[in-house]
Amino acid sequence: MKQFNSKQQDLAERIDHDSMWQNWKNWQWQQKHTIKSIHDFERLTDIRFSDEQKAMRNKTVQKFPISITPYYLSLIDFKDYENDPIFRQSFPSPQELTMQPCEMEDPLAEEKDSPAPQITHRYPDRVLFHVSNVCAMYCRHCTRKRKVGDLDDIPDKVTLLQGIDYIKKSPQIRDVLLSGGDPFMLSDGYLDWILGEIERIDHVEVIRVGTRTPVVLPFRITDDLVDMLKSHRPVWINTHFNHPREMTESAKLALSKMADAGLPLGNQTVLLAGVNDCPRIIKRLMHKLVQNRVRPYYLYQCDLSEGLSHFRTPVGKGIEIIESLIGHTSGFAVPTYVIDAPGGGGKIPVMPNYLISWSTNKVVLRNYEGVITTYKEPDSYEPIFCDRKCAECTLQLNLDEANETVATGIARLLSDANESMTLVPQDLDRFERRNAGDETE
Ligand SMILES: *Cc1c(COP(=O)(O)O)cnc(C)c1O
Repeated sequence: MKQFNSKQQDLAERIDHDSMWQNWKNWQWQQKHTIKSIHDFERLTDIRFSDEQKAMRNKTVQKFPISITPYYLSLIDFKDYENDPIFRQSFPSPQELTMQPCEMEDPLAEEKDSPAPQITHRYPDRVLFHVSNVCAMYCRHCTRKRKVGDLDDIPDKVTLLQGIDYIKKSPQIRDVLLSGGDPFMLSDGYLDWILGEIERIDHVEVIRVGTRTPVVLPFRITDDLVDMLKSHRPVWINTHFNHPREMTESAKLALSKMADAGLPLGNQTVLLAGVNDCPRIIKRLMHKLVQNRVRPYYLYQCDLSEGLSHFRTPVGKGIEIIESLIGHTSGFAVPTYVIDAPGGGGKIPVMPNYLISWSTNKVVLRNYEGVITTYKEPDSYEPIFCDRKCAECTLQLNLDEANETVATGIARLLSDANESMTLVPQDLDRFERRNAGDETE
């Protein structure tokens, strides 16, 4: 079996003449030899930029550093690099220095919603835990671009224990997402320690890891790593493939190791102009993912982080893509398209409309083919009044932990057990007028 192509061999030899190209599959070797400058890139690829281009790209690197693994570099088509999706995701562009008024350093307000070091607590029952500041490759479209290359180090145990302590003291947290940076850039031992600490907290039911290593450094998925992960309570893995060309034999092997170990695999794709903003590319990618036992999870609208304007598409492109998937392909190959609300509102799903109209006993729907159909609703339906007293309810939620907490958000408006009728913004002009009125009365 041919293990390496001649391009990879040539790259390996140019990178490190003393050590043999057999090192290619060693993740630490890959990590040690990441491409950190425009100059290195030119030397390794024989691509030459004009002086002006080089100056502009170097300026970009000063603000947003570069790091590309030799493996990911080898996926670039050097002959047509300018249009290459791998190149565009990894190589600095002068356009990153164009800032727009709508852009923000921290559009998702992750730092405001941080009650403890390395923790972002936004949703009621789950938290993000930033356990690593290190990434194998710096994605040009990173939503945490503000932090890239900032402190390329690893939070120490004392810092992480503060985050763990917060989780311990918050019984509502049942899901902990390890993020970063990339948690798989930690050593097996350190990650094992973190997982162990979190696992000992009774109320944590699942742990998730978000990692791009299967895409940019697939050799990181070693047998030892997988054995370690397997020894813990359910660990769900979410990876980040953006283009079908990233699904190489090495990537497939990394995914199959994890799937064989019983680790559930999901994928989050970012919709990127000039990279994957095409229904056919996304469909091909989704098919490759499910072929490799990865369930497409989210398709993200590109965030309003600084320097990403050239990557952003209109929302309509995402809806068009979802329209091209629903009904046209397997249901489990369709991700949920989401916009992460600026200011920390969380992920908001966006979909084409399928419900066209309705009356008191009928809804009118359309399907993916454009067929318009009706669904007749029941003539009589006896709703069960819900006052959140599950023990007295005929629906028999026979669970110890059935709790009777009140519903929040829009779900509260829908609930029987709550008298609130409206959700009202705090800063309505109307209220100011009322207050002014009070004074004069
Ligand atoms: C995305 C995200 C989560 C997880 O959201 P899910 O929809 O459950 O995948 C949790 N916390 C923060 C801050 C997030 O951004």
